[in-house]
Amino acid sequence: MQTKFEKIINGMYIDPLIFTQKFVKGCDVCICSGECCYYGVYIDKQEYEKIMSEKDKIIKYMDDSQTKSPENWFEEPQADNDFPSGIAVGTEVHNEKCVFLDKQGFCTLQKMALAEGEFKWKYKPLYCILFPLVISEGVLTVDDEHLNDMHYCSKLVNQISTVYDCCKNELKFLLGEKGFEELDIYHKEYFGKIDIDGSKIEAA
Ligand code: SF4
Ligand code: SF4
Repeated sequence: MQTKFEKIINGMYIDPLIFTQKFVKGCDVCICSGECCYYGVYIDKQEYEKIMSEKDKIIKYMDDSQTKSPENWFEEPQADNDFPSGIAVGTEVHNEKCVFLDKQGFCTLQKMALAEGEFKWKYKPLYCILFPLVISEGVLTVDDEHLNDMHYCSKLVNQISTVYDCCKNELKFLLGEKGFEELDIYHKEYFGKIDIDGSKIEAA
């Protein structure tokens, strides 16, 4: 049980690092080529099943840099309590990128949803939607380990915003409007406790 963090929303502890971590103003795969997708991703078993149920359609949106053989898309499932079903499935890497990343740096799952007039994140795994946010051991925090590997969005010169400001839509998606309102209040409260030089004022 995590006790380090004071705020809980929707059963998740909130790491204030999400408010202070510097980040780019917005993702732009024309600049970064979707670099965060080069390593594949772990997704929940239910997300895996949803993707596989649409495999024939997904293949139509793939290009010649991707494998169109669904049996090559995923690793063996493994137990992982960070995922709602308790089982995680990793996407495979093909041509040095996630099997679902096309040669232009777009996620085929999102591309397909948009092309079909669906909600853009209908098929996209939660981890991918949230990055650089992550839920780890019940804490909503920043995946700083993966972020530090990036060549564009991890560079100070490009970090003119924060993860919180850049990822408000993702946070609304995760927490719902009510949960996000609660987070926004916590955000304001949190900065009410910060001195002008950025150091935290400890409660007396
Ligand atoms: S998180 Fe970084 S690497 Fe991934 S799409 Fe956004 S800017 Fe690009
Ligand atoms: S599933 Fe899509 S968003 Fe997630 S890592 Fe693969 S290409 Fe990137």
